[in-house]
Amino acid sequence: MVSQSSGSDVNSNRSWDPLCSTCGRVTTVAKSWTNDNPGRRFYKCVVHGFCNWADEHSPYGWQKVSLLEAIDEIKQLKESLRAMNEQMVSGSNTDLLKTEDEEKKKLEISVMAATEREKMLRQFILLSWGGFIVVIGLILAMGK
Ligand SMILES: [Zn+2]
Repeated sequence: MVSQSSGSDVNSNRSWDPLCSTCGRVTTVAKSWTNDNPGRRFYKCVVHGFCNWADEHSPYGWQKVSLLEAIDEIKQLKESLRAMNEQMVSGSNTDLLKTEDEEKKKLEISVMAATEREKMLRQFILLSWGGFIVVIGLILAMGK
C-alpha cells in the first residue's frame, strides 16, 4: 500500500517539458531557492515565469536530489581549489600567481554559496521529516 521509499523515480527519463499553460510556449526547468522550496525544480516560461513544479509527484525526492547535486558541486569546487593551491605552491611566475589568486577567491565564494545552500537543504529536510514524525505521533496518540 504505502509507496516504496527507493526514490528511483526521482530522475525519471522525462525528455519533454510541458508547455506554458498561459501562452503555450516551451518551458525550461529552473530551480527555486526560496526558503519554502530550496532547490525545488520548476518549469519556467520566458514570459510568465513560474508555470508548474517539476517535482510535484515526489514531495521529498526533489530535496534529496538537490542536496546530492549541492554536495557534488561542493566536491568539484573543492577539488578545483586544491588543484589551484598545488599549482600556486609549485608556480614561480608572479603575474600568473596574481590571476590565480583572483580565480581562487571566486572559487572560494562559490564554495561558500554552495555550502550555504547545502545547509539550508539539510535544515529543510530535517524540518520536513520532523514535522512528519510529529504528525504521525499525534495520529498514533489520538488513536489510542
Ligand atoms: Zn507563458
